[in-house]
Amino acid sequence: MSPDSGTNVVWLGSPGFPEAAHTALGDPQLRRNLRKATTTIRDKRLAVTGELDDWEQLREAGAATKRHTLRHLDRYLLRLEDSVTKAGGVVHWAADAAGANRIVTELVRATSAHEVVKVKSMATQEIGLNEALEQAGIRAYETDLAELIVQLGDDRPSHILVPAIHRNRAEIREIFQREMGAWGRPAPDGLTDEPRALAEAARLHLRDKFLRAKVAVSGANFAIAETGTVGVVESEGNGRMCLTLPETLITVMGIEKVLPLWQDLEVFLQLLPRSSTGERMNPYTSTWRGVTPGDGPQAFHLVLLDNGRTATLADTVGRQALACIRCSACLNVCPVYERTGGHAYGSVYPGPIGAILTPQLVGVEHAATLPFASTLCGACYDACPVKINIPEVLTHLRAEVVEAKRAKRRVPGAEALAMKAATAVLASPRRLSVAQKAAALGGRLVSCKDVIGPLPGPLHAWTDARDTPAPPTESFRAWWQRTHPTGADS
Ligand code: SF4
Repeated sequence: MSPDSGTNVVWLGSPGFPEAAHTALGDPQLRRNLRKATTTIRDKRLAVTGELDDWEQLREAGAATKRHTLRHLDRYLLRLEDSVTKAGGVVHWAADAAGANRIVTELVRATSAHEVVKVKSMATQEIGLNEALEQAGIRAYETDLAELIVQLGDDRPSHILVPAIHRNRAEIREIFQREMGAWGRPAPDGLTDEPRALAEAARLHLRDKFLRAKVAVSGANFAIAETGTVGVVESEGNGRMCLTLPETLITVMGIEKVLPLWQDLEVFLQLLPRSSTGERMNPYTSTWRGVTPGDGPQAFHLVLLDNGRTATLADTVGRQALACIRCSACLNVCPVYERTGGHAYGSVYPGPIGAILTPQLVGVEHAATLPFASTLCGACYDACPVKINIPEVLTHLRAEVVEAKRAKRRVPGAEALAMKAATAVLASPRRLSVAQKAAALGGRLVSCKDVIGPLPGPLHAWTDARDTPAPPTESFRAWWQRTHPTGADS
């Protein structure tokens, strides 16, 4: 498969991260919603991971399985195709978003259906499937509660696990009252913002759709090469309705989701719920193989999506991102995500994982600000159940962004000139000594202040956003020479 970044969707329709983050930071309601939600999930995760003595061994086992599978991805994908086909399913290969959308649209058209029900799938968001189906006259109904809120609100998901994390209960009630009628059964009269009442409104709204739908579209958390089993992990049971009631089931899955053996689920079904929802066990884990006559969907199609993944695999550092099991633990611990929310990343994949995955799927030149959307504090690495070294990939991608900029520029920019000057100074003890004396002189000039005030020209971008400490009035070297007059510099 040869990925074509021109046909990858992944969204990125918003301004770059710095501008979008600036806007998000000005929304106190958003920050309150995010703080409450991320703190709750974070505490639950810490409690349930802390109670397992072998949590670190589980993480290592998950990381090792993913490393091995990615190294032999070609072999396991062919084995998966063979197993699914033998079980009565049909496997389709999609090189990019346009190809995947075309395959799914044609499959739905072949059933004469004009609507589909969907269970939460990031892969179909990545390729913009709902929009592609809409253009073909097919309406897609999201059935995951959070996805439903996002769809009714004409919104974008902002979290991997809780796509409507940026909405509070009052906002959800208002969306239900305003929009449900246009999509089917209206919200009940007198709807309150109690969680139970909101869930009941969604249940009634969706029930008609489940019973009517002839076609369902799902994502997949895992697919087992050995057996051809596909699995979806969810919390509400709506996914299971999608996976069992319609006559035709179409699953769109990124190629990196394959696992070699059924036995591997033992590790991942412990890692995922504890890291994502902070639960010991996942409430609804659905697995299926091909088709079973007289039981469940009678036609099953598995669309294997590349869309930039093989290009990512070719990067020996960046390929770690393909090990992600979409648990969202890295989002919930990220100080940047907690303050900006997911929309600022402009991608279906927000937070730390989005900052390393999106630029690789679409090409760093199309998402150049994302690798910088991090403080490199390392909390994401500590939290990741499959030990993806996110800070390492971030710095690797930052280097690629800088290289790409340098290759495009004929005249070096201010940052490149500053780095060149720093290299020259640090390479020579004599030049360093002169620079330190100059800095000490500057320090004496501003000694009445602890920080350097606004600087002129392009340097203002640095001082505007940071408290830069004033240089000391005496460097360590000068102090040493003063206090150790003999053999001072040794
Ligand atoms: S990068 Fe790790 S922590 Fe983040 S969503 Fe993926 S698996 Fe979870």
